[in-house]
Amino acid sequence: MGRSIEQILEKENPKSVLLVCGKSFHHQELYKRLLGAIEGVGASITEFMDFTPNPKYESVVEGVEVFLANRCDFIIAAGGGSAMDVAKCIKLFWNMDKKENYLKQKITENKVPILAIPTTAGTGSEATQFAVIYYEGTKQSVSHKSCIPDYVVLEPSLLESLPAYQKKVTMLDALCHAIESYWSVHATDTSKQYAVEAIQKILRHRKGYLQNTEEGNRGMLQAANVAGCAINLTQTTAGHAMCYKLTTLYGLSHGHAAALCVQVLWPYMVTHGEDCVDPRGTAYLQTMFQGLSEAMGCKHVEEAIAKYRDLLKELSLPSPVLKEEKELTILKTSVNPVRLKNNPVKLSEDAIEGLYREILHLV
Ligand code: NAD
Repeated sequence: MGRSIEQILEKENPKSVLLVCGKSFHHQELYKRLLGAIEGVGASITEFMDFTPNPKYESVVEGVEVFLANRCDFIIAAGGGSAMDVAKCIKLFWNMDKKENYLKQKITENKVPILAIPTTAGTGSEATQFAVIYYEGTKQSVSHKSCIPDYVVLEPSLLESLPAYQKKVTMLDALCHAIESYWSVHATDTSKQYAVEAIQKILRHRKGYLQNTEEGNRGMLQAANVAGCAINLTQTTAGHAMCYKLTTLYGLSHGHAAALCVQVLWPYMVTHGEDCVDPRGTAYLQTMFQGLSEAMGCKHVEEAIAKYRDLLKELSLPSPVLKEEKELTILKTSVNPVRLKNNPVKLSEDAIEGLYREILHLV
């Protein structure tokens, strides 16, 4: 971090740049500057925009074809988590066997650099080794250290065009990353420092960010990035494991669904310390929850949970509504057991159903 786009391109001196971006990026001032900088180093540019939010595997396959056809040697990802994850997968897959499914092949590291320019302050994908794509309707988390972007440019003005709902929910995604990382069984002193920094920055900058001030947008971009550094070390936990089906069943955005899950999960875990599965034990669990409360600027756990709830209420987001009873079965059987293992408190299927009932206001 710290280098300008021009300095990065001069240093890497690419011949053929693949720009993975959403259509909204064309309206940004930075887009023109980027084109100028690429021209300035004499490189050609190919744009790839053929993907949707929550990107599909097929889009990545297409992106790999475009990358190869244009002999690209540098990737720029300019967009939200979806654009960045498509770009990261193109980087990981372009040197694989085209006849086989990329998701089934071993990743062999390659040196194509990625420059990430996030246009949302939420996923922190620019700081993680993960890329989320959907294969046959199922979420796949691709993970490899070599897809952590080599360069990141955080430009606050990019957030000004985000619709209000997107602004709110991407901020919540970052907040949930930080909270879940803090309580993860994989949390370390370093990951907790990142998580605390992210929480404090989100609380400090949320008003300015929602009002689109430059300082607020800058602060939120930094917060989301640091929260990304935290989950890069710990991964997410039950909040994120539970949110995916809520997203597909009720059309909620990723961050919105994660925030609803964390809202019910947090008090549940605090009151079920006897089901602690963190090897550091129940005493650690209590100290950890106290530390998390202090990161939220609160003296007690209950105060921190209430502060989080109020923060969500302030955003006036719509609540999902159950249409048919069978949705509860779909929800409780959808949860990824690998992510649940990162959760410090064990969650039985009944407990998960109870939490979904709370989210859907059925209790
Ligand atoms: P997104 O990238 O899906 O974008 C949402 C919508 O906002 C899109 O229509 C996009 O074109 C538009 N948009 C983006 N920036 C804009 C701007 N500045 N102005 C106007 N419109 C803009 O949203 P997201 O929340 O950033 O990313 C969600 C994706 O990231 C999901 O697929 C999720 O699974 C993934 N994710 C990845 C990681 C990771 O570590 N790789 C972590 C969390 C989430």
